[in-house]
Order: sequence, then structure tokens, then C-alpha cells
Amino acid sequence: MSPHQTHQHGTHVDIRPLRKDDKNLPVTISDPNYSRDLTKLLVQSLLSHRNVKSILFNDTAISGVKSYAGHDNHLHVSMHE
Ligand SMILES: [Zn+2]
Repeated sequence: MSPHQTHQHGTHVDIRPLRKDDKNLPVTISDPNYSRDLTKLLVQSLLSHRNVKSILFNDTAISGVKSYAGHDNHLHVSMHE
């Protein structure tokens, strides 16, 4: 993944959004194969983990994520140290 300013400190993981076709390929939120339903389940399970601090992702129809430039194609998960 391309470098992010926010990757320089702390613990971060980039995760691809989920697809409707189950293919292990990149996807953006404007792609017809992007699955909001599956990605929402992923977000909910991540947010239920006590180590997860925040998730940057540009599909703000999913509650709990924060939009941030460049985050149409991955979820940027920040964890507590
Ligand atoms: Zn990121």
C-alpha cells in the first residue's frame, strides 16, 4: 500500500474492502463489485475488538468509520499501542 502520513507512528493495518464476488482482488467503494454489506460486517467486528482505536474509510454509509483522503480502496485500522 502507498505510504500514509499516519502510518509513521503507532500501529496501523490496511485491509481491503470486501467484494460481492469473493475474489481476492483490489476494490474501491465505487466499484460495482464492492460489497457494503460484507464490509460493514468486517467493520463491526473490528470495532468490537478492544485493541481497535479507529478505522479510516470513505464509505461513510458504514457507521463507525471516518472518511479520509485516499481511503476509497482500503480500510485503515489504527490500534492502541
Ligand atoms: Zn491507509
